[in-house]
Amino acid sequence: MIPQPRPCVLELPEYVPGERELKGITEPIKLSSNESTLGPSPQALQAYADAATQLHRYPDPDQNELRDALAEHFGLAVNQLICGNGSAELIQILIHAYVGEGDEVLLSEYGFPLYRIFAISQGASVISSAEVDCVTSVDHLLECVTPKTKLVAIANPNNPTGTYLSGSEVRRLHTNLPAHVLLLLDEAYAEYVTAEDFESGLLWATETENVVVARTFSKLYGLASLRIGWMLTPRRAFQTMQRLRITFNANGSALATAVAALHDVKYTKHVQQHNQLWRNRMTDDLEAQGLNVIPSMTNFLLIQFPDEPKLNSDAAANALMDNGIIPRPVSAGSPTNCLRITIGKSEENQAVLNTLKQFIQGT
Ligand SMILES: *Cc1c(COP(=O)(O)O)cnc(C)c1O
Repeated sequence: MIPQPRPCVLELPEYVPGERELKGITEPIKLSSNESTLGPSPQALQAYADAATQLHRYPDPDQNELRDALAEHFGLAVNQLICGNGSAELIQILIHAYVGEGDEVLLSEYGFPLYRIFAISQGASVISSAEVDCVTSVDHLLECVTPKTKLVAIANPNNPTGTYLSGSEVRRLHTNLPAHVLLLLDEAYAEYVTAEDFESGLLWATETENVVVARTFSKLYGLASLRIGWMLTPRRAFQTMQRLRITFNANGSALATAVAALHDVKYTKHVQQHNQLWRNRMTDDLEAQGLNVIPSMTNFLLIQFPDEPKLNSDAAANALMDNGIIPRPVSAGSPTNCLRITIGKSEENQAVLNTLKQFIQGT
């Protein structure tokens, strides 16, 4: 006999991370995890170096410096903000606090896999609502609501599709949910959105008792390794989550670095503009080659390949890897025959375009 985990934990598939290495290539172009290949702001790097003198200290358990900075930057109430070891930790705390056996967690068909993992590990049932052309469908989500629904979680924009819901659609979803249902808006990619009808939940969640908004420093701010994210919650949910939050969940270096990153507005703009430029350029170029690019509002593209053995996503992945580029094959349950490719530095993007052009033309 060996110790046995709870049965629901064994229902979970084993996690398969994005590739990090390619055999025989010392510096591969890693475009598999939606990291910011431009890296963090120089001011953030300086703050990180400065924080080294405090490594022997526990971090501020109240996370005040970062929470104050976020409150001021976004015009929010500090007592509704909570920081975590990545936004993933905060999403885990939220689901741990609110979701249990007998509950239903409602997710969109191609939604971010993390919510499913946490929901299943709590013993809840996951209900998947069909998307329309790789976009979350508010109508289908609302059709799936039952008296058992406890949480509706969507990423807006979504990963791995890159598509988004307009502000009016998200509000329509919220308005039609029963008051006891939590709505998680995961806005990990919100800073990359240029669509005019997009609206962050940060602008209106504070008027509600059941909407939480998750944000991260892992993407636009280029701090994925530090693990720092935050959440806007209704006051009651804040108090609930505080009971579960480990006192020192967000580390001191991460908190200090995030403040500096947030303040470097000029650098942030530069990263946003670079991303927008290449998102448009790559989408146009790949479509001109006959590939189906799902319209993206994020820092990555989901590319659908032809359904032919020589031209499918597996063949494309091999062609990219032969040229030192690591894409992300999207896992089971996602749109078929697709690769997700992060938008990188100019020369990295150009390498992707050149490689896929040769691949499609069979040269
Ligand atoms: C990358 C990502 C996150 C960020 O997770 P962190 O824990 O903050 O690094 C959250 N949600 C989605 C949809 C993501 O793609």
